[in-house]
Amino acid sequence: MAEVEKQGEKAEPVSLKATNLVELPQALGVRHLAERLNISVIEVIKQLMRNGIMANINQVISYDTAAAVVEALGYEAHPQPLKAQVGAAEAEKQLSGKEKLGGLPHRPPVVTIMGHVDHGKTRLLDAIRKTDVMAGEAGGITQHIGAYQVELSGQKITFLDTPGHEAFTAMRAHGAQVTDITILVVAADDGVMPQTLEAIDHARAAGVPIVVAINKIDRSGVNIDRVKQQLADAGLVVEDWGGDTVCVATSAKDGTGIADLLENLLLVAELEDLRADPNRPAEGVVIEAELDKTRGPMATVLVKSGTLKVGDTMVAGNTWGRVKAMFNDAGKRVRRAEPAMPVAVLGLGSIPQVGDTLQAVAGERQARALVGERQAQVPPGSEAAVSLNNLYVEISAGHIKELNIIFKADVQGSIEPIRTSLERLGTDELKVRIIRSATGNITESDVMLAAASKGLVIGFNTGVEGGALKSAAIARVDIRRYNIIYKLVEDLDKALKGLLAPTYVEVIQGRAEVKAVFAAGRRVKVAGTLVTEGKVTRGGLARVRRGDEVIFESEVGSLKRFKDDVKEVAAGYECGIGIKDFNDFKVGDMIELFRKEKEG
Ligand code: GDP
Repeated sequence: MAEVEKQGEKAEPVSLKATNLVELPQALGVRHLAERLNISVIEVIKQLMRNGIMANINQVISYDTAAAVVEALGYEAHPQPLKAQVGAAEAEKQLSGKEKLGGLPHRPPVVTIMGHVDHGKTRLLDAIRKTDVMAGEAGGITQHIGAYQVELSGQKITFLDTPGHEAFTAMRAHGAQVTDITILVVAADDGVMPQTLEAIDHARAAGVPIVVAINKIDRSGVNIDRVKQQLADAGLVVEDWGGDTVCVATSAKDGTGIADLLENLLLVAELEDLRADPNRPAEGVVIEAELDKTRGPMATVLVKSGTLKVGDTMVAGNTWGRVKAMFNDAGKRVRRAEPAMPVAVLGLGSIPQVGDTLQAVAGERQARALVGERQAQVPPGSEAAVSLNNLYVEISAGHIKELNIIFKADVQGSIEPIRTSLERLGTDELKVRIIRSATGNITESDVMLAAASKGLVIGFNTGVEGGALKSAAIARVDIRRYNIIYKLVEDLDKALKGLLAPTYVEVIQGRAEVKAVFAAGRRVKVAGTLVTEGKVTRGGLARVRRGDEVIFESEVGSLKRFKDDVKEVAAGYECGIGIKDFNDFKVGDMIELFRKEKEG
C-alpha cells in the first residue's frame, strides 16, 4: 500500500486522491470496472447500454468507453499512470482482437413467457411483437410461425410464441432446451398465484434466468410493492430490494414498460454471454410442425447453431429432406437462417415432432443413415423417468446425480417437516432436491416437471388428477402416494441406501494385444488383435491401456474373425475389435476385457 502511494506520489497530483476520482487503465473488463466502482455488474452494463454499447460481463472495454460510464455515474475518470498498467497490457491485447473474444460471435437470446392464467402473457407477446415485426409480404406466407424476433438498438431478441410453462416443459421433457430467459408475468392486481409459483419452479428446475414483468399496472389501485413482497416470499428478490431479480412494471394494454422490458432482456442476455457458431452445419429444434395443404410438411425451426440454408439436406427427428424454401417470422422468403432465428422450413418428407432436433447433414446418404440410426434408438424423453425401483440402476449407471422430487401435500403444515426429512436423506454423492413443493392434488404440470427433470412425484394425503395419471403413464413418471410420514421417508431411504454402498466388483475377463490398426469406414478404426488371455465378448466392457495408462473405457462395439461377426473369441486367436466411441488405437495397446459382478 505504502509502496503504491510512493510510486504514485510523483505521477499523481494531490487532487487525484479525491474520493470521486476513478483511475482507469487503457482497457479493462466490465467486471473489473464494476469492482472498481463498487457497484453491480448489472449497473455497469445498464449504463453501457444507455451509451449504446452492448457489452457482457467478460468483455474488455476501452478507456473512453469506461470513462463515459464512470462520468455518467457521477465520478471523474482519469488515466491510470502507465506504471500501474502492467496488468492491463493483456486486456489491451484482447481489445485489439475484440472479435475473437470468447471465440464465437454472440447470438440473440431466446425468450419464453410464463405466468398465471389471464395475467397477460398473450397480450404482452402481442404488444412486444407490435414493437417491431413487419407485416407479411407477397410471395411469402401469412400464417404465424410460432416465434418471432424483435430488434432493439440493433440487437435481436427471439420470442417463442407459446406462452405458459406447459410448452416450455414439454419441450424440455423431449430433451430440447431452447429457452435462455423466461419472462414471468404477474398481474399487478392479482399478484403471485399458484401458476406463478409453478412457473418459477419450472424455470428454476431448468436453470433458466427469470425476468419479472409486473403487468396491468394501468389498472387503478394496484400495489406493486405487494407483488414484490409476494415475489420475495417465493424467493425472487427484485433488484431495488437488494436482490438480483430483474423486474419491470408493464402494461400490455397501453405499452408502458415494454421497451424497458426488452432492454432488460438484452441485459440479462449479456450476462448469460450467449454465443453460437454461424459457420457450421445448422442445428436447431422444431418448435412447431404441421401439414400445409398446398406446400406439404412445414416445420418451424429455431436454429441453435450454424446457419441453415436453402438447399441444405436436413434431418429432423425421424424424417429428412432438402430445404426447399424458408420463411421468416414476417412471412418473407429467406435463404439463410442464423443462430436464434426462427424460420418455417419446407422440404421435409413428413411432419417431425415438436422438440425434435433438426440437423443439416452432408447429403442424402448421411441423412438416411442418421434417420435409420434414430429409428433404432429409443426416442429422447421416452425412457422412464426415475422411479424408486430403478433409482439404484439409474445412479450406478451415472444417469442421475441428484434425485429430483416434486412433492405435493394436503396441507401446508405437512410440507416443511417432510421436506426436511427427505432432504436429510441425501448424501454427498446423491443430493435429494425438492424442486417443487406445494399443496393440492398431483397435476399434469407436476408430472411434466418430473418428466423434464428426471424426477419423481410424491404425494402426501393428496389425490392424482386424471390428466396427471395419463401423462405419467406416457412419460413413465413414478407417482408415489403416502398417508403415513414414516412410511414415505422409509421407502425413500431404502431406495437410496441400495445405491449408497456400491455392491459391484470388477472381474477381468480377458486381454488382447493390438497388433495392427485398420480403417473400417470413415473415421472408424478397429484393432487387429491377438487374444492373449481369457476371452473377448461382443458387447462386453472394455478398456484400452497404453503402458500403465488407461486411455479409454467403454465396450466392445464390434468383434470379427476374418470377415465374420462373432460373439466371442478365445485366447490364442486373432480377431478384430472395435471399441465403441474409440478410434485411436496404437500398435502395442492392450485391450482389457472385464465385467462387473454383484458382490457377495
Ligand atoms: P394470459 O392468459 O396470461 O395469456 O392472459 P391474456 O393475455 O389473455 O390476458 C388476459 C386478460 O387481461 C385479457 O382480457 C387482456 O386484455 C387483459 N390484459 C392483459 N394485459 C393487460 C394490461 O396490461 N392491462 C389491462 N388493463 N389488461 C390487460
